[in-house]
Amino acid sequence: DPVNQQTAAVTPMMAQYLEIKAQYPDALLFYRMGDFYEMFFDDAVAAAEALDIALTKRGKHLGEDIPMCGVPVHSAESYLLTLIRKGFRVAVGEQMESPEEAKKRGSKSVVARDVVRLVTPGTLTEESLLDARRHNYLCAYALVRDAGALAWVDISTGAFHVMPLPPVRLGPELARLAPSEVLISEAIERDFAETVSDIGPALTPLSRASFDSTNGEQRLTSLFSVSTLEAFGTFSRPELAAMGAIVDYLEITQRGKLPLLRPPVREAEERVMQIDAATRRNLELTHALGGGRAGSLLATIDRTVTPGGARLLERRLSSPSRVPHVIENRLEAVDFALENTRLASDLREALRKVPDLDRALSRLSLDRGGPRDLAAIRNGLGQAEAIRDLLGTAELPALLAEAARDFTGHDDLLALLDAALVAEPPLLARDGGFIAPGYDPDLDAARELRDEGRGVIAKMQGQYAEQTGISSMKIKHNNVLGYFIEVTATHAEKMLSEPLSDTFRHRQTTANQLRFTTPELSEIETRIHNAAGEALEIEKRLYDNLKSAILDAADRIAATARALSEFDLATALAEISRTENWTRPKISATRALRIEGGRHPVVEAALTRQGAPFIANDCDLSDDPARIWLLTGPNMAGKSTFLRQNALIVLLAQMGSHVPATEAEIGVVSQLFSRVGASDDLARGRSTFMVEMVETAAILNQADASALVILDEIGRGTATYDGLSIAWATLEHLHEVNHCRALFATHYHEMTALAGKLQGVDNATVAVREHEGDVIFLHEVRHGAADRSYGVQVARLAGLPEAVVSRARAILDMLEQGDREGGKAHTLIDDLPLFAAAPPPQPKAAALAHLTEVTKLLEDTNPDDLSPREALEILYKLKEAS
Ligand code: ADP
Repeated sequence: DPVNQQTAAVTPMMAQYLEIKAQYPDALLFYRMGDFYEMFFDDAVAAAEALDIALTKRGKHLGEDIPMCGVPVHSAESYLLTLIRKGFRVAVGEQMESPEEAKKRGSKSVVARDVVRLVTPGTLTEESLLDARRHNYLCAYALVRDAGALAWVDISTGAFHVMPLPPVRLGPELARLAPSEVLISEAIERDFAETVSDIGPALTPLSRASFDSTNGEQRLTSLFSVSTLEAFGTFSRPELAAMGAIVDYLEITQRGKLPLLRPPVREAEERVMQIDAATRRNLELTHALGGGRAGSLLATIDRTVTPGGARLLERRLSSPSRVPHVIENRLEAVDFALENTRLASDLREALRKVPDLDRALSRLSLDRGGPRDLAAIRNGLGQAEAIRDLLGTAELPALLAEAARDFTGHDDLLALLDAALVAEPPLLARDGGFIAPGYDPDLDAARELRDEGRGVIAKMQGQYAEQTGISSMKIKHNNVLGYFIEVTATHAEKMLSEPLSDTFRHRQTTANQLRFTTPELSEIETRIHNAAGEALEIEKRLYDNLKSAILDAADRIAATARALSEFDLATALAEISRTENWTRPKISATRALRIEGGRHPVVEAALTRQGAPFIANDCDLSDDPARIWLLTGPNMAGKSTFLRQNALIVLLAQMGSHVPATEAEIGVVSQLFSRVGASDDLARGRSTFMVEMVETAAILNQADASALVILDEIGRGTATYDGLSIAWATLEHLHEVNHCRALFATHYHEMTALAGKLQGVDNATVAVREHEGDVIFLHEVRHGAADRSYGVQVARLAGLPEAVVSRARAILDMLEQGDREGGKAHTLIDDLPLFAAAPPPQPKAAALAHLTEVTKLLEDTNPDDLSPREALEILYKLKEAS
């Protein structure tokens, strides 16, 4: 047995380490040694590199040095965070007894240790490790035969959800939830590894047993202490399997200490707008293309003042509704806050003082909380009462009226917490000092004894100084000696000889001081020590009582937290509507889509910061006259902005918000798709054209008649005629087969002819004006086709040398003339006058070769297809060749 051979040769401590480590092969083991967590062997090498800390050695194992590194316990959280972010999992091994206890037990020298927790991305609860304004989801996907289900939980708030989900929809759902960790049975891990890694969370394979639906049902019934799950709904086998896997995993990682989970809620896919991962990325809903939150729609519109409200906004924005009355209810709430300006601003003032109830509750349930979490619950519930009072007799709309009912009903708990806790408790329960005086007579008595003792000691100092005649004598305290009497070395002789040496017993000599104790001082110290210990003990007991009282009311506290978030969101959405001049959309179950004076909230905010105006534009994709707009216009005119703003307005409307427009009528959109042609997407690597086609195929295969499709320069990633043909056929398919509403931006002017042939397609263009050879962007969307692409003018704006611009203009004129006369570029090239910047005379053969090169270049070029950058590159080549 190799393990035994190994352990036989090693110290008892190493043996213990190896035994624990063997149970957590996939995690780094934080092995507690006094004030440090130490790591050994490969763990140490990996952690030292990831944390950029020193790698040292400790002893030998089988003749080799043991690599070691460590982090101090008091700052372990930040190291943990770095490790989790870098994809590690960490098993935290604690000392389960003191060295004295180990000795008493008869154990040679090794303190008992055990892993108390496995830290993984999806199971964090620490305030410092989490973003307060975002959810942190752990997902599990289960397949039973061919039926799938997804379950997800945020253990930092206790929210627990499940939904049936076919395998093809897994990607989009993961994109919506943006979980940090996904559990999957090892039996099907390989089938889904790519889907998961595309979205980015950690993928954790679990055994098949974890995903067994019968086990799952048992785990759930025992977790919620019910005999059957029926009270929560009827769940399919894959749903039970997915939920069961989550509970199993929490048991593994939390080592049996289960977080407070709410009963599972089934989410219905058909009630929310479907938005896939590419669309979310492209529209920058919760993250900007650069990856950060800044610049995203979420960051731009977030006016919430509580973490719970911010998380609710993120949820709503990620899952807009498709149910008109749900949307209307939310809009009513926003309108209420808008109409009652004074009240709304008072509410927001009051909401600012609301702490994060959900996360405090979760930490308490996992026993990772402290006195401040007790105080957070007290303050939050108290604040909810105050908010209830603010509302007075106001006529609330349904959503808020229902929420407001959850503000009250905590009288007993509040009275208890108010009486028991001091105003601002310390962080740690073990230091004591958080229970208010007057709450518990025994605690008061113990504290009095402790403080009295301290008073007595203060008096003793004076007495001893008088007795010895040493006025500088001090009584001090430290953790090693406890209380001691200190004099400077100048008094050494006096203190160490009779008669003083009879009373004062020498304890220690330091560089300049001598330290003493007396029997009297020791006795008082013991009394203080005992009283302080007793006080701490009592506080610990009271802490547990208060914690239980809170956990008993957990459901109602969670309801209050939800209600507070609802008010926060409604007033925050009213705030942005008021300050940014938004308007309430009309929601209908039709296929209308009419937006007047629409704006792009993120671009507008950026322009406003620069002091530039945003030009509002209308859009009408209602069936009559046309549900598809084909948008042409030069680069930089504002096509992408227009496309996206209409998608965002629809999305905002359906999440229940006002919208940046003067008027909007939205016939509920079932699915939202947005794609950009490949060359805008180069940063993502891969074969971009292939990606573009795969994504376009997904739209054409899935979009139903209530979908809204936004296509920006599709087909650009390939050769001109390929691209044009693909774009053409795509548009026809959307019109003939999908029957959906769509905005289609293209630089293929040839396509504008389609408007005449397809009844539901209209041309629109972003207007520009030409002024003395310059192009001026008006950013106005108008009916009709763009007359030309202005590529050369845009190239000029980009700072191309004047000579190159005028040469390009000459070439363009020739090409266009040739097109009209049905000629070909290579026959034209002979007619082109020589480059105006007068090239140096060249030998004949070289001149010929260079002419062929230019000809070839021009033949392969269609100015209408060129982005400014491509045009620039070609012009540089031309200049080089000339
Ligand atoms: P295109 O897709 O046509 O190349 P974009 O939509 O990327 O153009 O817009 C280019 C720039 O023009 C934007 O970054 C923005 O600064 C500005 N812009 C676009 N639309 C508007 C508008 N409606 N009003 C004001 N400026 C706009």
